[in-house]
Amino acid sequence: MIKGGIMKRNKSVKKELMELYKNKCMLTLLETKITFHHIKKRQYGGKKILENGGLVEYRLHQWLHNEIELHDRELYQLINECLILYKMCYEQGKEQLLEQYEKEVAPEYIKIKEKKENGNNRNKY
Ligand SMILES: [Zn+2]
Repeated sequence: MIKGGIMKRNKSVKKELMELYKNKCMLTLLETKITFHHIKKRQYGGKKILENGGLVEYRLHQWLHNEIELHDRELYQLINECLILYKMCYEQGKEQLLEQYEKEVAPEYIKIKEKKENGNNRNKY
Protein backbone atom coordinates (compact mmCIF):
# COMPACT_ATOMS: atom_id res chain seq x y z
CA MET A 1 0.00 0.00 0.00
CA ILE A 2 1.33 3.41 -0.93
CA LYS A 3 0.74 5.34 2.23
CA GLY A 4 1.61 8.93 1.39
CA GLY A 5 -0.66 9.52 -1.59
CA ILE A 6 -3.60 7.59 -0.29
CA MET A 7 -3.51 9.25 3.10
CA LYS A 8 -3.53 12.65 1.49
CA ARG A 9 -6.45 11.79 -0.75
CA ASN A 10 -8.42 10.42 2.17
CA LYS A 11 -8.16 13.62 4.12
CA SER A 12 -11.55 15.25 3.95
CA VAL A 13 -11.85 18.25 1.69
CA LYS A 14 -14.08 19.86 4.27
CA LYS A 15 -11.32 19.56 6.82
CA GLU A 16 -8.84 21.06 4.38
CA LEU A 17 -11.19 23.98 3.74
CA MET A 18 -11.57 24.49 7.46
CA GLU A 19 -7.84 24.59 7.89
CA LEU A 20 -7.41 27.08 5.07
CA TYR A 21 -10.38 29.38 5.69
CA LYS A 22 -10.97 28.80 9.40
CA ASN A 23 -13.65 26.69 10.92
CA LYS A 24 -16.56 28.93 9.96
CA CYS A 25 -19.48 29.28 7.62
CA MET A 26 -18.47 31.47 4.69
CA LEU A 27 -21.86 33.17 4.65
CA THR A 28 -22.78 33.70 8.30
CA LEU A 29 -19.23 33.42 9.69
CA LEU A 30 -20.70 31.26 12.45
CA GLU A 31 -18.60 28.39 13.76
CA THR A 32 -21.26 25.75 14.40
CA LYS A 33 -22.65 22.97 12.19
CA ILE A 34 -20.40 23.59 9.21
CA THR A 35 -21.17 21.56 6.09
CA PHE A 36 -19.47 21.17 2.72
CA HIS A 37 -21.15 22.83 -0.25
CA HIS A 38 -20.31 22.12 -3.90
CA ILE A 39 -20.13 25.52 -5.59
CA LYS A 40 -20.60 23.79 -8.93
CA LYS A 41 -23.05 20.96 -8.36
CA ARG A 42 -22.01 17.33 -8.51
CA GLN A 43 -24.60 16.65 -11.18
CA TYR A 44 -22.93 19.21 -13.45
CA GLY A 45 -19.49 17.73 -12.91
CA GLY A 46 -18.53 19.78 -9.87
CA LYS A 47 -15.91 17.87 -7.91
CA LYS A 48 -15.33 17.61 -4.20
CA ILE A 49 -12.12 19.60 -4.29
CA LEU A 50 -10.87 22.69 -2.48
CA GLU A 51 -11.51 24.99 -5.43
CA ASN A 52 -15.13 23.89 -5.72
CA GLY A 53 -15.89 23.85 -2.02
CA GLY A 54 -17.65 26.24 0.27
CA LEU A 55 -18.34 25.99 3.99
CA VAL A 56 -21.96 26.67 4.80
CA GLU A 57 -23.83 26.42 8.08
CA TYR A 58 -26.25 23.46 8.14
CA ARG A 59 -29.55 25.35 8.29
CA LEU A 60 -28.47 27.88 5.70
CA HIS A 61 -27.30 25.07 3.47
CA GLN A 62 -30.77 23.51 3.59
CA TRP A 63 -32.31 26.88 2.77
CA LEU A 64 -29.89 27.35 -0.11
CA HIS A 65 -30.86 24.10 -1.83
CA ASN A 66 -34.46 23.56 -0.76
CA GLU A 67 -35.66 27.10 -1.32
CA ILE A 68 -33.28 29.26 -3.27
CA GLU A 69 -31.96 26.76 -5.77
CA LEU A 70 -35.48 25.59 -6.58
CA HIS A 71 -37.19 28.96 -6.78
CA ASP A 72 -34.59 31.59 -7.55
CA ARG A 73 -31.75 30.40 -9.75
CA GLU A 74 -30.34 33.90 -10.09
CA LEU A 75 -30.00 34.37 -6.36
CA TYR A 76 -28.57 30.87 -6.09
CA GLN A 77 -25.86 31.88 -8.58
CA LEU A 78 -25.18 35.09 -6.65
CA ILE A 79 -24.72 33.25 -3.37
CA ASN A 80 -22.26 30.89 -5.03
CA GLU A 81 -20.37 33.90 -6.36
CA CYS A 82 -20.44 35.30 -2.84
CA LEU A 83 -18.63 32.17 -1.64
CA ILE A 84 -16.05 32.45 -4.41
CA LEU A 85 -15.44 36.12 -3.59
CA TYR A 86 -15.18 35.41 0.12
CA LYS A 87 -12.52 32.78 -0.54
CA MET A 88 -10.63 35.13 -2.84
CA CYS A 89 -10.67 37.98 -0.31
CA TYR A 90 -9.52 35.60 2.38
CA GLU A 91 -6.69 34.20 0.26
CA GLN A 92 -5.50 37.64 -0.74
CA GLY A 93 -5.79 39.04 2.77
CA LYS A 94 -8.26 41.77 1.86
CA GLU A 95 -8.84 42.77 5.46
CA GLN A 96 -11.06 45.75 4.75
CA LEU A 97 -13.36 43.82 2.46
CA LEU A 98 -13.59 40.98 4.96
CA GLU A 99 -14.44 43.45 7.70
CA GLN A 100 -17.13 44.96 5.52
CA TYR A 101 -18.42 41.47 4.78
CA GLU A 102 -18.61 40.71 8.47
CA LYS A 103 -20.53 43.91 9.20
CA GLU A 104 -22.86 44.04 6.22
CA VAL A 105 -23.21 40.66 4.55
CA ALA A 106 -22.91 38.03 7.28
CA PRO A 107 -25.65 39.59 9.48
CA GLU A 108 -28.11 39.25 6.61
CA TYR A 109 -27.37 35.54 6.32
CA ILE A 110 -27.61 35.15 10.08
CA LYS A 111 -31.08 36.74 9.94
CA ILE A 112 -32.16 34.20 7.33
CA LYS A 113 -30.79 31.33 9.39
CA GLU A 114 -32.58 32.54 12.52
CA LYS A 115 -35.80 33.04 10.65
CA LYS A 116 -35.55 29.46 9.38
CA GLU A 117 -34.94 28.14 12.87
CA ASN A 118 -37.95 29.95 14.29
CA GLY A 119 -40.13 28.92 11.38
CA ASN A 120 -39.19 25.27 11.77
CA ASN A 121 -39.89 25.35 15.48
CA ARG A 122 -43.39 26.60 14.86
CA ASN A 123 -44.01 23.79 12.44
CA LYS A 124 -43.23 21.09 14.96
CA TYR A 125 -46.15 18.87 15.85
ZN1 LIG B 1 -24.61 22.51 -1.19
